[in-house]
Amino acid sequence: MIDLIKLAPQDFAGLSFSCSCGREHSVGIRKLLIESGCLKALPQVVKELSASQVFLLADENTFAAAGEEIAALLSSESFSFHCRIFPGSPTLVPNEATLGSALAAMEPEDDLILAVGSGTLNDTARLLSARTGIPYVIAATAPSMDGFASTVSPLILNGEKITKPAVFPAAIVADPAVLKNAPMEMLTAGFGDIVGKYTALCDWRLARNLHGEYYCPETVALMERAVEKCTQNAVGLKNRDETAVKYVTEALVLSGVAMGLVGNSRPASGAEHHFSHYWEVMYLHEGKEHPLHGNSVAAAAVVSASLYELAEKELPEGFVPPDREKILSALQAAGAPSSPKELGISKELFCESVLHAMEIRERFTILRFLQSRGLLPACAAALTNRFYS
Ligand SMILES: [Zn+2]
Ligand SMILES: [Zn+2]
Repeated sequence: MIDLIKLAPQDFAGLSFSCSCGREHSVGIRKLLIESGCLKALPQVVKELSASQVFLLADENTFAAAGEEIAALLSSESFSFHCRIFPGSPTLVPNEATLGSALAAMEPEDDLILAVGSGTLNDTARLLSARTGIPYVIAATAPSMDGFASTVSPLILNGEKITKPAVFPAAIVADPAVLKNAPMEMLTAGFGDIVGKYTALCDWRLARNLHGEYYCPETVALMERAVEKCTQNAVGLKNRDETAVKYVTEALVLSGVAMGLVGNSRPASGAEHHFSHYWEVMYLHEGKEHPLHGNSVAAAAVVSASLYELAEKELPEGFVPPDREKILSALQAAGAPSSPKELGISKELFCESVLHAMEIRERFTILRFLQSRGLLPACAAALTNRFYS
């Protein structure tokens, strides 16, 4: 039996094993590099993927952060490549214009897409890769979200948030020496997305206990350990410490790996993600720019843990709820938002989201648990008072 928590993140590339949960698990990513200085290995990665012409996709910010260095590395090794560099502002959105413009810049000879960036550029490259059949590599510039190792692209199409099936990247190259220089709100966002796993994993356990939902203890142990390493180094993140940034990056990549292992997003997403999604959609409808996903998840994890506290007497015997104090102090130590008010969510939107965020999807979480017991309206009132007093 393989012990997942003993493996280094790079060992997960191409891994396949039979698990104590009764399933066969496998990881479709061929190469994972997460260490200081690994950006220099990019030409080697390109060579291993037998690419003859690289299409480099970046925006002005990510090009300055790592693209320029990558272009110089590719040139020095005489690789053929060309670039599409989007403007640095306004913030790039994964919509029809971005997707179309990236596709139009491709050439018939391209046989590898190299995205230099994080959220939008990764999602754009992933969709292009899925639809053209040309593999893509992500060179990460910010540890801001857990979509690096995912197989879906969340997009904004016709003004609505829609998630499209896509593919794994062929390789992920994440150099902490580059990532630590990302804007601070992107560092806290990545940290927030990881802290949200505490409540996501509790929701998964609750669903297993009450509804017999499929559950993989190995995957849970893997995530718990990755999350723990991040919270123990929360203060370091504030100081852009390379080790703290590395742990967050590892956890973000492993989170995608974990979703791939079990074939759904249970290891990474529970009620806290329903809140962030709900807030995001509401902002989108009002034409407002919403907070970074992971920063919303950060605040929502505190909300979700507070709901567990209010549900305490109703929970199954022996059930260990998320530790709200621990979540709160980790977020504060890292400088991440820790309440919906701090995040800028209005009192009205917050109250409404407690009542309706669960409608985002069928998934059973603490929200549906409270609703099934008729407690949700009282919890919405209590938490609105608590967070907006
Ligand atoms: Zn398993
Ligand atoms: Zn997330």
